[in-house]
Amino acid sequence: MSIAPIGIFGGTFDPVHYGHLRLAQELGELLRLAEVRIIPAGTPPHRAAPQVTAEQRLEMTRLAVAGNPLLAVDDREVRRSGPGYTIDTLTELRRQLGPSRPLCLLLGADAFLELATWHRWHDLFGLAHLVIAHRPGFPPESWPARMPEPLAREYSARLLRQPFGVHLSPAGGIVTQAIAALDISASMIRDSLTRGVSPRYLLPDPVLDYIGRNNLYVTQEVNETR
Ligand code: ATP
Repeated sequence: MSIAPIGIFGGTFDPVHYGHLRLAQELGELLRLAEVRIIPAGTPPHRAAPQVTAEQRLEMTRLAVAGNPLLAVDDREVRRSGPGYTIDTLTELRRQLGPSRPLCLLLGADAFLELATWHRWHDLFGLAHLVIAHRPGFPPESWPARMPEPLAREYSARLLRQPFGVHLSPAGGIVTQAIAALDISASMIRDSLTRGVSPRYLLPDPVLDYIGRNNLYVTQEVNETR
């Protein structure tokens, strides 16, 4: 019998919200993953410095998944110093889990369309399958026009007809999957908090309570020009 794949779900989670959590829950169940490891980024390579500390983003993610046996939080990127690249995280996980366990890197469609800007992105396919979740604003019909040529080539060569194909080999395939369409983003939540408008019901209450207790996101966003 094959061993169920492990899902790896990275992001800034600044803060974690129901868009992230439904993605992890639905892909974990639909693809029958053994578990989904949520891995908050330390110092993210792709974006401006986040407003709260990595430790705080990690803690909010822990609060969000507490009691859910399918979802686990992995703190390796926060513990690592310097920019955390997905390729390094997957290399480390592959070393720990052995060569035959299937790994699935879970991504929203917006993140997938940016993949060709990632450090050593071609090498990701040697370490994991890619599972792309639909996201409002990035409908699949718009992907061909938004994918740079090298990514489009990989996409058409690697697309698996059958999602359970991810159980049959350790890495290298691409699967796309519709999930509940939740037009929620962390930036929308940060904006609400800065404007003094409640983002309640867009993220779990324990996360919102933590934000309130620690007075997070009350000032303007830090951006690259500062
Ligand atoms: P921000 O608004 O700060 O850019 P975000 O809400 O997009 O943040 P990230 O932490 O950057 O959140 O995203 C982590 C991963 O979750 C990415 O792969 C992203 O595509 C996916 N994701 C985030 N929100 C959603 C959503 N509402 N639906 C589907 N995928 C999502």
